[in-house]
Amino acid sequence: MRRSRGRPEPADPRQLARRLLPWFDRHGRHDLPWQREPTPYRVWVSEVMLQQTRVETVIPYFERFLRRFPDVAALAAASEDEVLHLWSGLGYYSRARHLHAAARRIVAAHGGELPADFAGLTALPGIGRSTAGAIAALARGERRPILDGNVKRVLARYFLVRGWPGDSATAAQLWQLAEACTPARRTGAYTQAIMDLGATVCTRARPACERCPLEAGCAARAAGLAATLPERRPVARPRPERRRLMLLVVRNGAEILLERRPGSGIWGGLWTPPEFAEEAGLQAWCRAQFGPRARPARLPGLRHSFTHFDLEIEPWQLRAGRAAARVEEGGRVWYNSRAPSSIGLPAPVSRLIEGCLHGVEGSGQESSDGKDDPVRGARSRGRGARAGAVAR
Ligand code: SF4
Repeated sequence: MRRSRGRPEPADPRQLARRLLPWFDRHGRHDLPWQREPTPYRVWVSEVMLQQTRVETVIPYFERFLRRFPDVAALAAASEDEVLHLWSGLGYYSRARHLHAAARRIVAAHGGELPADFAGLTALPGIGRSTAGAIAALARGERRPILDGNVKRVLARYFLVRGWPGDSATAAQLWQLAEACTPARRTGAYTQAIMDLGATVCTRARPACERCPLEAGCAARAAGLAATLPERRPVARPRPERRRLMLLVVRNGAEILLERRPGSGIWGGLWTPPEFAEEAGLQAWCRAQFGPRARPARLPGLRHSFTHFDLEIEPWQLRAGRAAARVEEGGRVWYNSRAPSSIGLPAPVSRLIEGCLHGVEGSGQESSDGKDDPVRGARSRGRGARAGAVAR
């Protein structure tokens, strides 16, 4: 597969599938849980879970989710709390809320079956052009292109597409190439193949060009630019930082007071400890709820990265006595860590609770925008900081 650099064959869209499919037959992934029975529903759930998230992370979530919600009707009938509970730890929770809302709409307006037409699919919450393309191609064998993060990377390199893929002109060029490269036959296999190549060979940091089936025609490889494409956002903006105080009120050694968050925004619909902007507000709330002798103690902080900002969490802890009984009103619960209820908890909050009660870790990264941005494999699964043990 090696050849001299500097004299590339012209990058021909028709060649891409021809080169890719034999490689896929030998080296691609053929036994992922959603591939075993690729119904539109299973492909849809897998595609949504795979946005921003690695395959290895998704597999156990997908299997649990499908055991509990084997079809659209089961998902539509569930409470949002239960859906978010099964999503807890996967991050990007707007995906789960959109999935749930779309399931309800499918039951109400489409007889419980995902719409057969492309426009009907893209009209559903959380289903963009790429996700709809994947459902059409992988579950129905239709000739529809996809353009997730892996595909963008492969196409940008193979065709030497300059520009940041978030820019509309570059995105339009990539969609044109995706359309031109998608073959009429074996569309599902091709779709899986180009995703697999991006995930396992044409990786972001160190593409393994020497074992790539596209090497002979890859313009970026020939130009020595493989690792530098796709281009990054032109002007890197400074990353905003936010700081919030969270109060972990502990009752009976195993119960933590949680509040339900509003349905939209960060961690929408999930449950978190009472939150405050400043210490004065936290102290005043503690006195109002638990009496003048309430003395919350500050715990070591932790940092959590969202797509567009970093969140500095400053946890505080308060051991509550008998006065704690009355704070349960108004959208609050005592979450019993020994008999946890089926509600959604953000991963850092789970770690905070663990750290507070038992001393465990916490830190991670997730999306803050709630959009269906089909980029895969970009998510950090935490940096190993220890809540309850990390000094900021
Ligand atoms: S030759 Fe390298 S840069 Fe080009 S598609 Fe293959 S792995 Fe990616």
